[in-house]
Parts: sequence; structure tokens; C-alpha cells
Amino acid sequence: MAIIPGMTDLTRPYWDAAPEGRLVVQQCRACVRAWHPPLPVCPHCNSADPGWREVAGTGTVYTYTVVRHPTHIALADQVPYVIAIVELTEGPRVVTGITGCDPGDVRAGMPVRVTFTAVSDDVTLPYFEPAVSPPGGRPPCRPPGKGGETPLSPPSPGEPAQIAGPWASRLPGWGRPLCRPRPDPI
Ligand code: ZN
Repeated sequence: MAIIPGMTDLTRPYWDAAPEGRLVVQQCRACVRAWHPPLPVCPHCNSADPGWREVAGTGTVYTYTVVRHPTHIALADQVPYVIAIVELTEGPRVVTGITGCDPGDVRAGMPVRVTFTAVSDDVTLPYFEPAVSPPGGRPPCRPPGKGGETPLSPPSPGEPAQIAGPWASRLPGWGRPLCRPRPDPI
């Protein structure tokens, strides 16, 4: 179960793109800067002529929190889950959820990529998941909205298995798997 967001004429292009597997943000036709969430005027130059552009759907976790107490009964079977601000490669930051790994393995600076989850006939929610598989393949992860552990297929031979880049030295915990099975409750 998921909370269905309210939609307006202003935000409709964002929600219309999601079922098509596209992530879009507003981009000013005057100053060509992009932002999120949608606004009626450009927050940089006040132009009243915002357009939309598709983005790559990649980015890094800017900050996050692990929600352990459900704030709504509809979310009772989903805790713990991660609410994060992801900084897109193109610059704008989006509030989203991190799926595809144990909440305890999320880190600021972690590379992520968008994934789309249909929650009704009309609504698809963009989430983000780890963009890089850990050494030794992807261990079992818990998909959103499911209570059990579901094995994921191992990475293909050509898929990168080691995190590299400037964030690696800042995250000493990266040597361990991104996802790990949750221990049985005592
Ligand atoms: Zn502008």
C-alpha cells in the first residue's frame, strides 16, 4: 500500500512521465536552469515560462532518514523504510524513497538510480535504488511494500562490482554489501 500523492495541473507532467519510465523536472526556458519540485515561476530568474526536461534518473543520496515508526496505518507494513533527498546528476534535488537495499545500508553520497513502482492504475511513484552492486553480487533485498526477503538475480559479468569515485574514500563502510538479510526477530 502506498500514499497516493495529490496531483495538480502544475505537477501533472511529472506524474504523466513516471508510468512511461521517464523522470522529468522543470527547466526555465529563459535561464535554462532546472529545479524541483514544480513551481509556477522560475526560482532563479522569476520567469513565468517554465518548461520540462527529462533527466537521466541518476544521482546521489544528499541526506536521508530511516523511518521506523509508521506515520500512517497504510505504511505500517513497510517500516523501516528510507525517505531521502536525492541530488540528481543534473542538479535538482528530489524527495523520494530508497528501495532495493536494507535501510541500514543507505549512506549520504551513495550513487543511486531511479526505479518506478506502479501503485495504482493511474499513479507510478519514482523511487531510487543503489546504482552499484556490491562485490560478490547482490544479496537478498526487500522490495518496497513486501514483508519478506526476495532474492535478486546476480549482476551480469560486465556489471561494475566495486564502488569507485570521490565518494569511496569518504565512506569507509562501502566494502560491505549494500544489502543484507534482516536477522530474525528475537
Ligand atoms: Zn529562469
